[in-house]
Amino acid sequence: MEPLEFSGGTLFSHKGRLHTQSLVPGKRVYGEKLISWEGREYREWNPNRSKLSAYFALGGRSFPFKKDSHVLYLGAASGTTASHVADIVPDGKVFCVEFSPRSFRDLTVNSAGRSNMYPILADATAPGEYSFIVDHADVVYADVAQKRQADIILDNMDRYGATYGILCIKARSEDVTAPPARVFSEVAGRLRERGCSVEELVSLEPYEKDHAMAIIRRPRTVYCVAMDESGFLMVYNEKRNGWEMPGGKIEPGETVREAAERECLEESGYEVTAVECRDLGYCDVCACRIIGRKGDGEMTPRMFSQLPADLAFDEDEYSEVILWAASAIKGKGGLF
Ligand code: SAM
Repeated sequence: MEPLEFSGGTLFSHKGRLHTQSLVPGKRVYGEKLISWEGREYREWNPNRSKLSAYFALGGRSFPFKKDSHVLYLGAASGTTASHVADIVPDGKVFCVEFSPRSFRDLTVNSAGRSNMYPILADATAPGEYSFIVDHADVVYADVAQKRQADIILDNMDRYGATYGILCIKARSEDVTAPPARVFSEVAGRLRERGCSVEELVSLEPYEKDHAMAIIRRPRTVYCVAMDESGFLMVYNEKRNGWEMPGGKIEPGETVREAAERECLEESGYEVTAVECRDLGYCDVCACRIIGRKGDGEMTPRMFSQLPADLAFDEDEYSEVILWAASAIKGKGGLF
């Protein structure tokens, strides 16, 4: 049983076949072969049964998973692939969204004992439906086999702040008559149009006819907690119907601080100085001191002394970063 380097030792090769180390020894999910090796149990991952295994079998080497990743899995069906993903992220979580009650029943049975799998009966086209359980996602995996596949994965990546996406594109779900190669390039075009880079686009033939796998990366983002003695600055996002901290994409060649200062000015019209930055995993946040208002921004700005009710993002995260930013600014000879 050889650990595969590109996977950080979470995938294994044995007699030329792919395996994951089972989180629940003795339990099969779809009749897969179990192999005991030096006191551990491994599950064979058949590329004819799982598109993610097919991607690796065909030489795909993008591997965005870490042992503690939060993975949002859209279209989990009965959990065949999702259970292997759960083996790959033993210290993380796999949120498994499935909207067919029939498949969901099997999914709950197959998730039993796998404490990092969370079956969710919901529609992946309405990402807000599962915000009660999904806190954030590092990776979104989508295999929903329906129209608008690019938008479905990106809406979920946006909603849950994921940097990476893995999209199984089923050509026939987009257009039954169009040549698959054309559908794949149109889907990739849509992903790019919405600001993502498509790192790989791999046909899954001969394992899956008319399917391709797209590996997607979202640009890194930053937001600002911009403060003065009266409180902190927020902007109203009409699309998300709520207040949020100003922020956006870090452009190539820009530092995190430069991006924070530029985005704040563009969105709110306020000039700020970034004092300290912090990596939140899915994005960066900068504590910024407000210099003054320079003009109008793209959104409506307002100063707050406490968080408003209609927020576009997570209240707990905002509460925490406001305290952090206030103390960072104070520690650097701040205004308050
Ligand atoms: N990913 C699974 C695997 O490898 O084990 C197979 C997924 S199957 C091709 C597609 C699944 O997506 C079906 O179970 C279907 O019910 C589900 N699905 C399709 N549209 C969906 C939606 N909008 N929300 C949630 N699930 C959806």
